[in-house]
Amino acid sequence: MKITAKAFELQLKYPFTITKFSRTSTPLMLLEIQDEGFTGLGEASMVPYMGESLETATDFLKKVDLSGFSFPFNMEEIITYLDDLAPGQPAIKAAIDIALHDLSGKISDQPCYQMFGSSPDLMPLTTFTIGIDIPEVIIKKVNDALADDFRLIKIKLGRDTDKLLIETIRSVTDLPLYVDANQGWTDRNEGLEMAHWLKEQGVLLIEQPMLKDDIDGNAWLTERSPIPIIGDEAVQRLADVTKAKGVYHGINIKLMKSAGMYEGFKMIEAARKNNLKILIGCMSETSIGTLAGAALAPLCDWADLDGPFLTSNNPYQTPKFKKGRYILNHKPGLGVELKSS
Ligand code: MG
Repeated sequence: MKITAKAFELQLKYPFTITKFSRTSTPLMLLEIQDEGFTGLGEASMVPYMGESLETATDFLKKVDLSGFSFPFNMEEIITYLDDLAPGQPAIKAAIDIALHDLSGKISDQPCYQMFGSSPDLMPLTTFTIGIDIPEVIIKKVNDALADDFRLIKIKLGRDTDKLLIETIRSVTDLPLYVDANQGWTDRNEGLEMAHWLKEQGVLLIEQPMLKDDIDGNAWLTERSPIPIIGDEAVQRLADVTKAKGVYHGINIKLMKSAGMYEGFKMIEAARKNNLKILIGCMSETSIGTLAGAALAPLCDWADLDGPFLTSNNPYQTPKFKKGRYILNHKPGLGVELKSS
């Protein structure tokens, strides 16, 4: 098997601000893995605060030798092999995993969703995420979301402007909202008050309200909140799922944290076993990562897979999207389509 890697800078349509960070683009590593005359596509999206970079990805890829593996790929063995090469670095491991799933689908002539028993008919709505911003820009972004046919909006909170941001959105649309505080709330009592207020504003769930290490605080809020509390930063890989039980109502799975689709699927199974709800999210991703997430999304309760709508130079076609949901094509593999020139 031959791996080819290419660095790519994915540009955001607007500077994106969350509680602690702001950025205008995201470094990606785009991968192609070739075997049996087919090419599988993968990507690593390395948002700076997760600690990976083009340098760490390049160094990791130098160590990878897939010549000992062949189709049908034993993903359990391959992920264990990658984890043994170096700890952490889930994004570049996800790139390899995603490319191998795309490749498997192409070799075996079946769409990736089918490999996981996932039904495109059960695709949940996807949110359009709006970062922290001034009211004029928030309104512009809400209008973008409406123009793109979204039926759900996710808003980043976690600063002292939280209520103003929600009121600004409510001045333009009644669409249901998800909010993500990205660990920005510090006081559990204020958090609970906020959760009640948000419910009245039509908010359906709250992501990572307080610091991921504040297990007591998040558990306290989960016990009392009128809407689901979802752990994101607190939940990275499979081993974290059981730790989320009793602390959150549900977890946010992202393939760039879980080291790809294989472990993402395992996390879905583990979450179901532990009665945890599941949101499947993404980083800034092209259609490759988005379609990998969308293949698993029908197995989840909620989806936040808006990468192609928030970026301006996705090298692939935006996946088909209608009335707030992705419509998966039936092509073998992920179904990533090149832009027609
Ligand atoms: Mg989040």
